Formats: sequence, structure tokens, C-alpha cells
Amino acid sequence: MCGIIGYTGPLEAPKILLEGLSGLEYRGYDSAGIALCMEDSRICLLKKAGKVKNLKEHCKQLVAGSSHSGIGHTRWATHGGVTDVNAHPHRAGKVVLIHNGIIENYHALTERFQLQDCLVSQTDSEVAAQVLNKLYQGDPLDAIRNLIGLLRSE
Ligand code: GLU
Repeated sequence: MCGIIGYTGPLEAPKILLEGLSGLEYRGYDSAGIALCMEDSRICLLKKAGKVKNLKEHCKQLVAGSSHSGIGHTRWATHGGVTDVNAHPHRAGKVVLIHNGIIENYHALTERFQLQDCLVSQTDSEVAAQVLNKLYQGDPLDAIRNLIGLLRSE
């Protein structure tokens, strides 16, 4: 079962997110990742198959104080193999998404929104990120509400 954590505030986001993901390890997972909003407003994605320890190692490249906001995920793969690319978060344009569970109608959504050529992972979750990016017209809540109306899950 996956774990999800988010943080925004004065502290170092990578440290809080990685500690949080370590605390969620007991739930079981096969890969882990974080997305950070950097000081210069760029988004930084760091994702690794395997233990949170691998992700922590990967995150050593980050400069201290470079981010105070982000999201993190431990994945339990249901759709697509256990790879760095399939680990969450998934990015599509302005959207960065993490997801727990199964999107039953991801094939239908892929066809309806003609996503075949823009998907980079094999996950059902990335389809949700891509659809949300297509629905986004400047109001995030509107886009999320519309997305939720389209998703079918168990
Ligand atoms: N179905 C998604 C995937 O395979 C999410 C799995 C999960 O709940 O961690 O990436």
C-alpha cells in the first residue's frame, strides 16, 4: 500500500519529505519519489526504484535551502514495472501528481485525450496527470473536480 506526504513551510522540504517517507516504509512499497518546488519556482523530480535509502542517496545532489515545499510518495506498483520512470510523482506540463490506487478506465482516457504519444511511464497514474494537464485552464480546483468526475476506480 502506498504512502503520500506533502509539506510546505519554513523548514527544508527534502528533509521533511524523506523523513516522512521513511516513516511510511512499514506500509510496504517498491519505489519512492519526491517533487520539490524550488526557490526559483522550477519543479524538481527525484524518483528511485527500491528503498527510500536509494532516494535519499539520490537527493544528496540537492543544495541546502533550495526548497520549502513538495510532495512525496512510496509506490506499490499495480500498473507498470518497478522502475525509476514508473515511480511517482508524475509530471505533465504544469501538473505534478502522486496517486494511490488503481484507475480502472485509464485505457479509455488515454484514447479519449489522445495521450498515446505523451506518456513516458507505463502507469495508470500518469494518465491522470496528463488528463489534468489537458483540463487545466487556470483554475486548479475546477480542473481537479473535472478530473475526479472522469476517473473510475475500485
Ligand atoms: N496504480 C499506481 C501505480 O501502479 C499507484 C500504485 C500505488 O498505489 O502505489 O503506479
